[in-house]
Amino acid sequence: MYDDILKEDGVWAAFGLHPHNAKMWCPQIERDLIRAASHPKCVAWGEMGLDYGKGYTKASPDVIEMQKDAFMAQIKQALKLNKPFVIHARGAEMDAFEIMKTKAPKDHKIHFHCYSGSWKTAEKMMEHFPNMYIGVTGLVTFNSATNVTDVARKVPLERLLIETDAPYMRPKNANLVDRNSPRSASPSMGIWVAARIAEIRKITLDIVLIQVRKNVANMYGI
Ligand SMILES: [Zn+2]
Repeated sequence: MYDDILKEDGVWAAFGLHPHNAKMWCPQIERDLIRAASHPKCVAWGEMGLDYGKGYTKASPDVIEMQKDAFMAQIKQALKLNKPFVIHARGAEMDAFEIMKTKAPKDHKIHFHCYSGSWKTAEKMMEHFPNMYIGVTGLVTFNSATNVTDVARKVPLERLLIETDAPYMRPKNANLVDRNSPRSASPSMGIWVAARIAEIRKITLDIVLIQVRKNVANMYGI
């Protein structure tokens, strides 16, 4: 299925088992992911990680154990194939960090996707992993996302990646020009995330885009 999509120019892939699906982890899924990750246009392994949820979606101790097992098994395979990690960790940043610290070499390339933890935690993780990048999504366009705004202001530009997490988290500022479009995000809306980061940091959009392009090349080799 992914073969056709990956024939397109400018399209690359990352494959992994999302923590929401951790209970699906089994030898067959592992084999399928190894095969998918071996595709020449697969540039990373992920999303993988931990998602503890909150409120009524809060993960039970059993589910958390399953997530940890699937995460550790995927780290092992990603390292064997020498694939950078794309990490999804929500409400579980420190636990994900502890696991990576014990299982992955310090210089491994890590994209901490859709980061929503504190600046303090991000700083601690980046200090340990010098090739970790922090992914900021359309969440940064919402005033209520104080953690993300704080991180977007403080993260060194050379450690920043821009994402949309489409179809989720449609940037609010995209509505300024496109009021009638669907409520979902698309990858083209990364520009609105970059625009908001430039505004927060009081720098030009060009500076953000030029540096993030370099970061993508360093992280993914593309
Ligand atoms: Zn995610």
